[in-house]
Amino acid sequence: MNNDKIILSVATTGSRPSKLQNPGLPVTPEEIAQAAVESWREGAAVVHVHVRDEAGKMTCDLSRFQRVKQLIRAQGCDILINFTTSGGAGRVDEGERFNSLAAGPELGSLDAGSMNFNERVFLNPPDFLEELAGRMLAANVKPEIEVFDSGMIGNAMTLIQNGLIKPPPWWQFVLGVKGGAPATARSLLYLIDSIPAGSLWSVCAVGWRQLPMNMLAIAMGGHARTGLEDNLYYKRGELAQSNAQLVARLARIARECGREPATPAEAREMLGLVR
Ligand code: ZN
Repeated sequence: MNNDKIILSVATTGSRPSKLQNPGLPVTPEEIAQAAVESWREGAAVVHVHVRDEAGKMTCDLSRFQRVKQLIRAQGCDILINFTTSGGAGRVDEGERFNSLAAGPELGSLDAGSMNFNERVFLNPPDFLEELAGRMLAANVKPEIEVFDSGMIGNAMTLIQNGLIKPPPWWQFVLGVKGGAPATARSLLYLIDSIPAGSLWSVCAVGWRQLPMNMLAIAMGGHARTGLEDNLYYKRGELAQSNAQLVARLARIARECGREPATPAEAREMLGLVR
């Protein structure tokens, strides 16, 4: 019934960007919650959240995840909340990465394999993935399967086949990271062709490729993620003012193409979260 609807996600903060790079980057729980609410008003159905400490550095501090969630809900905003479990791609120990699940998000990122991630090694070995997926299942958190390269699809398929990820699988193709699959149409097509029938997929890409890859998703019937985590600019030489500004542009283009942004309630239904 919602086949033409597009699920727009906003990744507000990430673990790497700083306010020095873009003053509009939300860093405190208050700023992150505000960015989520403003993005929701512009059509975002999902917010993907990383939190920072007092110094602005990435942290897996549970209380900060809880605070973001509480502040979002306190404003009557029903956006789907997706907490990261990435631990900043090689910055913290595995155990800390489970912290955010205790804050009760509806979605959690599951990075489906190990890779060179820019200058770091991002470790997601099989036993860690199995434990993470098992904990998510037990906590009733749906994995957003983050795929940085094609081999990660096979890793996730093992989890699906072992009953650790419930249908329908929800994939996020994260393209253009140094060390991962390139942000090209050919790359995206191959990834889409490699996931099982009945899947839902979304795409995001780093830097200036964010918008063109989002537009491919609009055209191909997929879903799309924007936000300052992936790209700090509105266009060449012009910083984005806010996450909401990026969401508003994406929603506008989607509507022009006949793809109305899904509400959070519609997105929950599409993702099989309505029980
Ligand atoms: Zn992230």
